[in-house]
Amino acid sequence: MKNLIQVLQKKSTELNLFSAGDRLKLADKHIPDALAVLDFWEPGARVADIGTGGGLPGLALACARPDLDFTLVDSTAKKINAIEEMAAELELKNVHGLVGRFEELAHEKKWREQFDTVNARAVAELPVLLEYVAGFLKIGGKFYAWKADYEPELKASEKAQEVLKLGFVRAHKYSLPGGEARAILEFKKMATLSREYPRGNGTPKAKPLL
Ligand code: SAM
Repeated sequence: MKNLIQVLQKKSTELNLFSAGDRLKLADKHIPDALAVLDFWEPGARVADIGTGGGLPGLALACARPDLDFTLVDSTAKKINAIEEMAAELELKNVHGLVGRFEELAHEKKWREQFDTVNARAVAELPVLLEYVAGFLKIGGKFYAWKADYEPELKASEKAQEVLKLGFVRAHKYSLPGGEARAILEFKKMATLSREYPRGNGTPKAKPLL
């Protein structure tokens, strides 16, 4: 992972992809956090990392799992351009950037119900996040959400789980190298999603399914 850390630090310093504090924590916190679930994915799976920001967890996972195909999604073109440049520098052939809002992309035929797995770290609270994710997943596909204190959010997401056909499977608990407790929540797409969802730009956040 040494190259990845160097490339992320260099690009992030140029473009401010991570705060100065987070840049110093890439090796000890953010990369280990990104790699906490290396065993989850089926070989050959098509994975979307939504709200990838500066490229985590997607870029770290793509380095570690060259057998999987990663689409890194964010509404900010500057970030996705930077990710494509970093992927080229790292000679990663399994990384594709996608610019756009989840609420729009998840209605496009090219992306709707196309992914075996979706993951998201530090993007939104669960009731909102589940609406962002549901349209991208194939039936039977898995969603992994990186969370810290997850129980109140999980409880608040019960209605969203039901409406969006995303059933909670389990919490995979782990600790960061400094001892901080974290969990990756696993959800499974149980049935096809109504065309109503996701709702229009900004609505999932403004009026979460509570
Ligand atoms: N996954 C990153 C990490 O772990 O470092 C977090 C990046 S940042 C906190 C969240 C990202 O989600 C931002 O880059 C933002 O542009 C993107 N985002 C938030 N809402 C979005 C939406 N509705 N559509 C597309 N991108 C969105």
